[in-house]
Amino acid sequence: MSDYDSENVFAKILRDEIPSLRVYEDDEFIAFRDIDPSAPTHVVLIPRGEAPTGLDQLTESDTTMLGKLTIAATKIARELGLETDGYRLVLNNGPDAGQTVFHLHMHILGGGRLGPVA
Ligand code: AMP
Repeated sequence: MSDYDSENVFAKILRDEIPSLRVYEDDEFIAFRDIDPSAPTHVVLIPRGEAPTGLDQLTESDTTMLGKLTIAATKIARELGLETDGYRLVLNNGPDAGQTVFHLHMHILGGGRLGPVA
C-alpha cells in the first residue's frame, strides 16, 4: 500500500517492538487488548503485514480478508465469553470517526452494556 506507514503503532506491535496483551493469533490476524479501553472488554483485531490503512483503501481483492477478519472477531468474542450477552464490532474510518491508527483494525467491544452507537 503506497501510503502505509510501517512505523505505525500496530506495525510495531506486529513486530513485537512494543508490548501488547495478545488474546488471539493465527496466520493472518492478531488481536490484543486495547491500551485505552472503551468497554469492559475491548480488543483490537488486525491483519498481519502491510494492511490497508483504513476502509477507504479497500478493494474487491480484500473481500476474503474482510470476511475472515469478521469471522475471527466472532471466534474471539466467543473465546472471551461475550457471545451470550452480546458485543459490538467497530471499524473507524477517518477523522470524524476518530481513527488514530492507519492500519486496518476492528474493535471488539463488550463485557457490559454499551452506549448507543450514535
Ligand atoms: P482507532 O481510533 O479506531 O484508530 O483505534 C485505535 C485504537 O488503538 C485506540 O482504541 C487506541 O486506544 C488503541 N491503541 C493505541 N496504541 C495502542 C497500544 N500500544 N496497544 C494497544 N492499543 C493501542
